[in-house]
Amino acid sequence: MALKGLDIFKLTPKTNCKECGNPTCMAFAMKVAQGAIPIDKCPHMSDEAKATLSEATAPPMKSFKFGAGETEHAIGGETVLFRHDKTFVAHTLFGVNICTKCDFDAVITEVEKVSYERIGEHMYTEVLNLTFKGDQAAYVELVKKAMGHGRALILECTDAAAAAAALDVCAAEKPILNGATPDNYKEMAELAKAKGVLLGVSAPDLDALYDTTAAIEALGYKDLVLDVTGANVKDTYANAIQVRRAALKDKDRTFGYPSIVNLSKIAGGDTTKQTALASMFILKYGSIVLMDGMSYAQALPLFGLRQNIFTDPQKPMKVEPGIYALNGADANSPCATTVDFALTYFIVSGELERSGVPVNLLISDAGGYSVLTAWAAGKFSAGSIARFFKENDIESKIASRDLIIPGKAAVLKGELEEQLPGWKIIVAPNEATGLVKFMKDLNA
Ligand code: SF4
Repeated sequence: MALKGLDIFKLTPKTNCKECGNPTCMAFAMKVAQGAIPIDKCPHMSDEAKATLSEATAPPMKSFKFGAGETEHAIGGETVLFRHDKTFVAHTLFGVNICTKCDFDAVITEVEKVSYERIGEHMYTEVLNLTFKGDQAAYVELVKKAMGHGRALILECTDAAAAAAALDVCAAEKPILNGATPDNYKEMAELAKAKGVLLGVSAPDLDALYDTTAAIEALGYKDLVLDVTGANVKDTYANAIQVRRAALKDKDRTFGYPSIVNLSKIAGGDTTKQTALASMFILKYGSIVLMDGMSYAQALPLFGLRQNIFTDPQKPMKVEPGIYALNGADANSPCATTVDFALTYFIVSGELERSGVPVNLLISDAGGYSVLTAWAAGKFSAGSIARFFKENDIESKIASRDLIIPGKAAVLKGELEEQLPGWKIIVAPNEATGLVKFMKDLNA
């Protein structure tokens, strides 16, 4: 390492280096070692030292973006095998397979039906996997049809001529070209490099996948995604795990790439089996999971699981404060309130919906805690609820003056009656399971 900026020794801990932003070279070196800062932030290092250290300090798994504009998504960049070690980085993306023999309009209509928001995250199928079936002209037409539907594209095509024709149409959309095999990797690598797209690599077994990936790297192309789909469920599962373990545990960067798992190839047309397997590959370790379809029945459990796995387990998931009109509630419907902890919200709103009684569920910022914890921490109090009413102008938006509060927060009743004059405070049962009968009785 050739350090020249030795005036660094004059720096005090309060005067960070203008070049690398650190108080000392040692602090810089420690951040580099942790992968928190790139080595080239220090301009005083020789190219040779930079090249050596960059390789040694590069993250174990590369991260990429594909898609363009609103269809752009991040994949890879994981640093740990288990979410309890550290929060995972890029959540699993879901894709639907479409080939030239499919009824494109029917498939895309079904795909577009699934679109909803859950705890601040838009849930929808992010990727279309376009499979080449031997007819180049039909494939290019399929690619044209797939563009403009707000989904990132994967071109699953091992035919170099067809892949080139498809990329002529959609390279600006930055698709993944999933087409390199042990037989064609040279021309596919050239094509991907020329078009600036990620290259998917597949092979009959793990050894061949490793050798093909290494050969593509030797050609100077390292923007890769590994298609770990094997001959059956067992092989695919083993491939996904061994590739990720080799990268993160053994620091073997030849396998340090995101992965694709195509469930159609290992579960046939059995959508129930595909859904069950998709849940497994969210955990172990599909960067992109491809399926035959994604109905609401499949999406709800899978997207919910994904959201749980790819969020910080230390931070409670919160819903946005606001007025949630349930069962067609309007200004004359009664109000109910609870905390913003996602689990509480979904249990309470689910039971209220089951009652069929229109009700405005008012969610205030309670720090993401459950009812009793929020109350004990002073985050769910008569004062915080009254403040929420004022800030959101509830009294002019809602004509009803009935407010249902959680049974576990019954202690707030008296204080709320003082802080919200004119409101009738009604105490709900202690447990959400009692809400259906309670709401029906209230509405009788
Ligand atoms: Fe200057 Fe930072 Fe390089 Fe040290 S590591 S020589 S402080 S730029």
